[in-house]
Amino acid sequence: MNAKSLESSQAGIREPMETLPVFLRVRGKRAAVVGGGSAAARRTETLGRAGALVTVFAARLDHEFDALRDKAKFERVAREPTRADVDGFVVCYVATGEEADDERVAAAIRGARALINVADRPDLCDFIAPSLVDRAPLVIAISTGGASPMLGRMLKARLESAIPAAYGRLAAFMGKSRARLGASLPDARARRRFWERVLEGPIAEMVLANNEPAADAALAREIEREAGGGAAPSGEVYLVGAGPGDPDLLTFRALRLMQKADVVLYDRLVDQKIVDLVRREAERIYVGKRRNDHTLPQEEIGELLVRLASQGKRVLRLKGGDPFIFGRGGEEIETLADHGIPFQVCPGITAAAACSAYSGIPLTHRDHAQACVFVTGHGKNGPIDLDWSALIRPNQTVAIYMGLGHLDELAKAFVAHGADPDLPAAVIDNGARANQRVVTGTLRTIADQARAAALRGPTIIILGTVVALRDKLNWYASDGGAG
Ligand code: SAH
Repeated sequence: MNAKSLESSQAGIREPMETLPVFLRVRGKRAAVVGGGSAAARRTETLGRAGALVTVFAARLDHEFDALRDKAKFERVAREPTRADVDGFVVCYVATGEEADDERVAAAIRGARALINVADRPDLCDFIAPSLVDRAPLVIAISTGGASPMLGRMLKARLESAIPAAYGRLAAFMGKSRARLGASLPDARARRRFWERVLEGPIAEMVLANNEPAADAALAREIEREAGGGAAPSGEVYLVGAGPGDPDLLTFRALRLMQKADVVLYDRLVDQKIVDLVRREAERIYVGKRRNDHTLPQEEIGELLVRLASQGKRVLRLKGGDPFIFGRGGEEIETLADHGIPFQVCPGITAAAACSAYSGIPLTHRDHAQACVFVTGHGKNGPIDLDWSALIRPNQTVAIYMGLGHLDELAKAFVAHGADPDLPAAVIDNGARANQRVVTGTLRTIADQARAAALRGPTIIILGTVVALRDKLNWYASDGGAG
């Protein structure tokens, strides 16, 4: 880079744009597509979504058009168009799939009063067709100015995964609520600040979580409060399941809430790699638990959540696995509900499901188990007294959480209550993590084997004949003998 271009790039001088981005209104207006193949079908579909009345010029239509019958209004003309045919149309796409045919058609209609696009021929185009991320009414159009359609598609894929489908709903919600706000808040700047707050706060979350009635009610309250002079924004709590440890197993929603938080409370089961994905500026509070070593008693966690949210903060309570499965999530949000703090719960992949998938042991299987029971092997004061006869049923898998410390007693109790000592059993340690280990045996042998392997936990114990399927289904774990 020479001194001059360095200077200009530092000064923020930008490349000229190849095209002018605009969104055309085509609803109820006429448009043409030339071609009957899949490229033509895709263009017909997009035009249909935008409400255009489409004429498709094609000798025959691909079966892809059959699926469009309900989605787009189109008629077919079984020949190539002349200039007069498309004169006065808003747009005309030429996409026959044959370059020579495209060229001939483009030459024939040139001069018509219509914006023309010829597939893969930017030199013949009045406009280019962008890649779309369609969350109508929210639509994102991407163009690389013809420089690299591939890059455009890649960015589209990234945006598709980063922008939840629910954002379309949010856009629609805001659109419909605008008039209501305009009447109560005439000042444009105050209105803008208000919307910023709504977008960042619990009301937007309610819409994204598909609870529009609650959002409507909350918005009405908020508008009333704002019109009456405003008030401090209220905080909220996200109770989020972070899955078993691998960041890949987070949900999109979990990640989005993690990116929004002002403060995060997490415990031992949440992997550091996941905590690292929380918004960088967020304050981090460790409230971890180890067996018999509770860093913060449960009641205090609840109170801390209330205190932080009352300061107007967005509080993320990050839990291993799923918050409602042996996660005491219910107790925490009960405290929130008592104090009128808005909250939402985001599910996560629970340890038993993750361990099952990552060890090749299906929890149910038509030939083996029609039911699966999740139980905890750890009570408030030591090993739990389980309903053994309900657990020892044929054709049922038992997944035991928090059982490693009592595996010996548990296995003996199962046998003492009538379970087959040769019932297959597995212990999955650090499931779905890089250091996952799996030990398989039977009720008779499993405790000794787990001890010999010096497993440290967290572990899931799986009991049932489904464990025998692992030999066949475990293509995943070529984990050096540990599995
Ligand atoms: N809410 C969590 C469970 C919390 S209780 C969930 O839905 O998964 C804690 C117990 O979960 C641990 O004692 C262990 O039994 C299990 N566990 C959590 N993460 C695990 C992992 N990565 N591998 C195996 N077991 C795990």
